[in-house]
Amino acid sequence: MTTNESAVGEADWRRATELIRAADRVALACHVSPDGDALGSMLGLGLALASTGRKVVASFGDRVFAVPRLLRFLPGQHLLVEPSAYPAEPDLMITFDASTMERLGLLAPHAGKARELLVIDHHVSNTRFGTVHLVDPGAASTTMVVEELINRLGLPVDREVATCLYVGLVTDTGSFRHSITTPAAHAMAGRLLATGLRPEEIARELWDRSPFAYLRVLGTALGRAVLEPDAAGGLGLVWTYVSRADRAAEGLPYDEVEGVIDVVRRVDEAEVAVVLKEDDEGRWNVSTRSKGAVDVARACAALGGGGHARAAGFSSALSVADTMAALRPLLTPEGSRS
Ligand code: AMP
Ligand code: MN
Ligand code: MN
Repeated sequence: MTTNESAVGEADWRRATELIRAADRVALACHVSPDGDALGSMLGLGLALASTGRKVVASFGDRVFAVPRLLRFLPGQHLLVEPSAYPAEPDLMITFDASTMERLGLLAPHAGKARELLVIDHHVSNTRFGTVHLVDPGAASTTMVVEELINRLGLPVDREVATCLYVGLVTDTGSFRHSITTPAAHAMAGRLLATGLRPEEIARELWDRSPFAYLRVLGTALGRAVLEPDAAGGLGLVWTYVSRADRAAEGLPYDEVEGVIDVVRRVDEAEVAVVLKEDDEGRWNVSTRSKGAVDVARACAALGGGGHARAAGFSSALSVADTMAALRPLLTPEGSRS
């Protein structure tokens, strides 16, 4: 087996490869506030397509367009354009790791006007908003679907493409720790490592470095963490927040606080962990994690967000207290819902 076993039907693979083979210009877009899987899958396919001489543009629809500092080492950044420079009516547009059209932010109208819209994703909640869909909920990352697409197109996976795909794979599997870590995920890692990429350098960029200011802000956030043993149906909830003022006091940009949830979610006494992060515009982006008994995707979807059963999020214009008051009753274990 050289490709991942996938839930995508042969007809969809055929339509997707035909669309790409016929295109000489391709417009790529991933979800807003891109993570490693969103950018990695987009830039990985972008580099593979650009190597064939196709004209490739890639973007994401945030109002303030900036690649998170942690992901600036990814190859293929030269393919990125601001949303204002994105084609208004692309012939072929491809979306990555976005479960809904809304997750494209400012680029949603472009997707609505694209002649063909190829949706590549692994969210079980994907609304199939395109004209062709490569959606595999069994894939650990969108980059797994992209790897198979590149193989089916007969394009090479060089070290730069492999780096992009590997970043999506290791971030979405939590370094092969999450339950989604399948044999296929490890097999793909093996193929990517064979291109000569350096896993220790990638891990250092992603998880093992930060400015000193991060320690101070992390300390503040951890110092105010709350444990609620009776919440989440008695299985326990741990939560905290990082405000705009916390970050301003230390001069820390928003994109540096993504990792706070990975410290908070380790608490033994809590099934669910929540971190609210206030962005520079004053909106709270809420990260939720569960250990398996509570479906946080369902809870976040009820508040306008989404995600996976054990890792999901939403954004809120309410205060911290009001956001938690809305979320808390939704954190119910499977089977205990009335
Ligand atoms: P995060 O906590 O930001 O790492 O997000 C975890 C997962 O939740 C992501 O992989 C997305 O699938 C999903 N997610 C986060 N925020 C949103 C949102 N506002 N709307 C829909 N899905 C989201
Ligand atoms: Mn993502
Ligand atoms: Mn993903």
